[in-house]
Amino acid sequence: RYQSLAYSRVLEIHKQHLSPVLTAYFPEPLLLHQGHMEWLFDHEGNRYLDFFSGIVTVSVGHCHPKVNAAAQRQLGRLWHTSSVFFHPLIHEYAEKLSALLPEPLKVIFLVNSGSEANDLAVLMARAHSNSTDIISFRGAYHGCSPYALGLTNVGIYKMDLPHGMGCQPTMCPDVFRGPWGGSHCRDSPVQTIRKCSCAPDCCQAKDQYIEQFKDTLSTSVAKSIAGFFAEPIQGVNGFVQYPKGFLKDAFELVRERGGVCIADEVQTGFGRLGSHFWGFQTHDVLPDIVTMAKGIGNGFPMAAVVTTPEIAKSLAKRLLHFNTFGGNPVACAIGSAVLEVIKEENLQENSQEVGTYMLLKLAKLRDEFEIVGDVRGKGLMIGIEMVKDKTFRIAPSMCITKPEADFAVEVFRSALIQHMKRRAK
Ligand code: PMP
Repeated sequence: RYQSLAYSRVLEIHKQHLSPVLTAYFPEPLLLHQGHMEWLFDHEGNRYLDFFSGIVTVSVGHCHPKVNAAAQRQLGRLWHTSSVFFHPLIHEYAEKLSALLPEPLKVIFLVNSGSEANDLAVLMARAHSNSTDIISFRGAYHGCSPYALGLTNVGIYKMDLPHGMGCQPTMCPDVFRGPWGGSHCRDSPVQTIRKCSCAPDCCQAKDQYIEQFKDTLSTSVAKSIAGFFAEPIQGVNGFVQYPKGFLKDAFELVRERGGVCIADEVQTGFGRLGSHFWGFQTHDVLPDIVTMAKGIGNGFPMAAVVTTPEIAKSLAKRLLHFNTFGGNPVACAIGSAVLEVIKEENLQENSQEVGTYMLLKLAKLRDEFEIVGDVRGKGLMIGIEMVKDKTFRIAPSMCITKPEADFAVEVFRSALIQHMKRRAK
């Protein structure tokens, strides 16, 4: 605990000088002072087990000692090269990151945020395809910058101001909420069967969703399109999963129209899904562009776009593209340390083991409480959908343990019991 501004003063300053939009999330947000791995500490010294990791961002734990040391070392040497000069850390990082991606995804563009990464991916898709139209799912969040806002299809972010020209939404193949429902995949550990005896299995539902996708292609976009954006699991919308095989078929249809396929791995990448390092691998597809942010820097502002040499050349042929801070040496030192920690501490394996363990425990709540409509997800990306309320998203740092998962499930369960009691009164 250390001396600093009192909570009341912080709130006052916030009201006067900071974005009024931010308190729309929480009227009285936590005032955080410190973090250590999966723990956070507030201004009164209370500790919290962080099960949302700064919105799916702190991948290896708050202030991980190895990541801290790498940042501190580089802060004492050189902060900034303005991306036009070389620095060995940038090149080392590019080599390490590209080694984690399959051929031909080998060219890396370093930027500073997920929105920026997606903006750049839009530019690349258009430069490469010589077309304009881009498709993204309803319910998708791809950022708040002007291009990315066009791809984002979440009502609360859609301002009635010009943005996102050429972006078209398409139906999200949501196996829980979608009109054709369907169970979760047979190979999902949860196998959530909807409480409807006529629900088709997810493969049958997939065909219906693909028909909708074809409908978007034939009615809402030009004959040739620039691309299609998809997250492997939809993040902001409540960790929504698609039927098996959907992305594979959709990628084929997009490519038939000359478009490129973009996987937004901002939330799903870096081992969080457990079985694979990248979310697109869980769908058995190979995108043409992959965007990444959040977990890449464990909370430090950095992001990347990875693409093929051919697409990178299409952009370079047009004109210069420049980014002052993207890939600065401090970010690259941090990014490298994060990759090392994920490997050395087997965090992808931990995501798989603890995530599946927790998913199965949480799935039991569905049978116990009527208001728990669905429990889904993969690795440490778990969604709990309340049927008369919001969706809970669980995505802790990948270093959490089974006892901590037990504790979190018990806390969640007792909150549900209290909620039900209050409702019954
Ligand atoms: N894509 C996804 C899937 C995201 O979840 C987010 C952020 N929530 C973004 C893009 C935008 O990232 P940023 O906030 O770093 O611009």
